[in-house]
Amino acid sequence: MKKDIAIKKIAPRTIVAFYEDYFELNAGSIILDNFILVIDTLLYPSQTREFRAYLDQNYKQPIKYLLLTHFHGDHLLGMGEFKSNDIEVLGTEQLVDNMKNRLENNWSQESIAKWKEEEPDNTEDFDAIDLFLPHRTFEKSHVIEDGSLRVEFYHSGGHSGCSAWVYFAEDKVIFTGDELASYNWPFISEPSGNPDTWIQAFEHMLSLDVENVVPGHGKIVNKKHLQEHLEYLKTLRSIVLKGIEDCIKVEELVVPEFYKPAEDWQIPKALEHLYNFYSKR
Ligand SMILES: [Zn+2]
Repeated sequence: MKKDIAIKKIAPRTIVAFYEDYFELNAGSIILDNFILVIDTLLYPSQTREFRAYLDQNYKQPIKYLLLTHFHGDHLLGMGEFKSNDIEVLGTEQLVDNMKNRLENNWSQESIAKWKEEEPDNTEDFDAIDLFLPHRTFEKSHVIEDGSLRVEFYHSGGHSGCSAWVYFAEDKVIFTGDELASYNWPFISEPSGNPDTWIQAFEHMLSLDVENVVPGHGKIVNKKHLQEHLEYLKTLRSIVLKGIEDCIKVEELVVPEFYKPAEDWQIPKALEHLYNFYSKR
């Protein structure tokens, strides 16, 4: 698989790093007056290194924070490239629990050894993986300030229980994490994810002054596209709630057409998750 990334300035202080070949993955950075913060790391450590080198070469401010939107590997496997006493890693409280679990299972030394066997071409990248827990966590929201500039970090817990998103008012930009995969069927699959707080997060985002919405995956979009996703999530919720009320089996639920899912299993898995979620109510 190709590892080329594209780095682009999308607003005066906002940079996006884009890895097209892995479901159009996005990471980003916000350049404040006295320091830089980074949002997610891309998939491979070599990509994170390239992104970091770009920031180091183009800006004199030091990198001070790494914000992790959630625990999925494509958003944080490069975090070792930011391991430093001067860089604070931030995420939700749930992120720590989810990462601890992964470190014991999917990301154990044995698991990574297996990845190397399966993908010998990526040995160097797998050897460079250096995962560690965030230094600081928050429950609902966290604000980073630099003079009059504010970066707001909100826990939403939709796509996964630990999911969070970032708003930078100065550039009118949101980094949604995987709460949004633009032009894709929504990434609903984690049993820990909550469709209600997801909907609330979209409503919150839509209430803000925003020009660019940077999704966890997909092209950069605007509020109109976000609104479409909000309506679709609400539609899914209504269909599932009505299905449960009418004792319709989950396999028999029919949902309206939307953007294509990134993987075939997504829709049945999503419906199963929503069905279980609302059946417990
Ligand atoms: Zn994800």
